[in-house]
Amino acid sequence: MLKISDKSKCCGCGACGQICARGAISMRKDELGFAYPEINSEKCNDCGLCEKICSFGKAPEALPEGGQQYLAARHKDNDTLMESRSGGAFTALSDAVLKEGGVVYGAEFAEDFSVRHSRATGADQRNRFRGSKYIQSDMGACLREVKQDLKQGKKVLFSGTSCQCDALKHFLPSTDNLILADVLCHGVASPAVWQAYIKKDKREIKAVDFRDKKHFGWKEHKETIYYKDGSSKSSKSFTDLYYKHIMHRPCCAECPYNSLDRVTDITMADFWGWEKTDREMNADDKGYSLLIINSDKGRELFNAASSDMEWRNVDIASCMQRPLKSRIEINPRCTEFENAFLEKGINYVLRKYSDRNIRSQMRYLYKKTRKLARKILLNK
Ligand SMILES: Cc1cc2nc3c(=O)[nH]c(=O)nc-3n(C[C@H](O)[C@H](O)[C@H](O)COP(=O)(O)OP(=O)(O)OC[C@H]3O[C@@H](n4cnc5c(N)ncnc54)[C@H](O)[C@@H]3O)c2cc1C
Repeated sequence: MLKISDKSKCCGCGACGQICARGAISMRKDELGFAYPEINSEKCNDCGLCEKICSFGKAPEALPEGGQQYLAARHKDNDTLMESRSGGAFTALSDAVLKEGGVVYGAEFAEDFSVRHSRATGADQRNRFRGSKYIQSDMGACLREVKQDLKQGKKVLFSGTSCQCDALKHFLPSTDNLILADVLCHGVASPAVWQAYIKKDKREIKAVDFRDKKHFGWKEHKETIYYKDGSSKSSKSFTDLYYKHIMHRPCCAECPYNSLDRVTDITMADFWGWEKTDREMNADDKGYSLLIINSDKGRELFNAASSDMEWRNVDIASCMQRPLKSRIEINPRCTEFENAFLEKGINYVLRKYSDRNIRSQMRYLYKKTRKLARKILLNK
């Protein structure tokens, strides 16, 4: 088996495995849960197709300059807005495709709350894609499924990170029926750390909300996990590790998509900096989407969806954020974090690396002190 030598050169889209007619490539997860290709050299005939299809690291083909339009948008339906992480633009855009009998792809939670890409032909299935999940999603066989849908003449809206969208663009011949919508991204977190984090409580999970607007508002960025026994837990522990860029996929440090040159038809983001446009527009703290329309196809989709949203044109200079300007910096302690996670487990790394977990640090100190005090007293 041949393994990839430099992990920072692979975004895990799986296009190489999906294109290989000899089935010589399979995606295998490493200890952090990130998938990488492995080549079975006995099956491989060195045709080079896998390298040709690989989009990551090749200069992205941005769409022609000049035509971009920048908008702040918010879904008119309050329930939809509250279920969405930004302003609910994704629901409006995908509804327009579903209404035409089209198919929508996006990232959902699986039964075990891992994240995977999936296909929806109706609103109920599509609603599972709502909400940002900051863990890398597993693309499975999506690239081939999209190809199949397009072959059957269906309209497809594919949503995902820029690298996932670009992978699809390289995988398929260009077609009018495929619309690409990327979420602006500052990296994806380790699936293995996430699994360890949710399993440590031993309670069965019902739902996860990575930005619980209902209880804390849009700006606060607090996560809530809802359990089947009716209880829930809100914290910033996982989010805090995520924002530290300490458990990211290595390739995120080399992301070629962190600029205003977008590779998709439409880019969806949070409208951070809204107060420079209008101090009152987010007074209720329910959130706003920033939409960047990059192509005529993107504009057509926005026009079809626009009646579901309140929206206005905005000046991009007033709402530039890091992923639109430059790559993120991976935390210099990420290798140390990784080793600590693998050797000592989730509770240890949460205590050591997450600032937000003060309550659990206090609990830990209390337990340690009590144990020590008991030992001293019993020995007396
Ligand atoms: C990993 C990640 C990092 C992000 N970083 C930023 C950022 O730095 N700045 C910023 O402004 N916005 C960022 N976003 C985008 C933002 O959080 C919203 O997802 C986006 O604005 C769409 O919001 P919405 O209200 O329209 O729809 P929502 O319903 O909230 O969003 C759903 C969309 O997100 C996609 N999605 C959810 N999880 C994943 C995943 N793990 N992988 C791929 N696609 C996923 C779904 O397929 C769907 O298209 C990020 C999103 C993700 C998933």
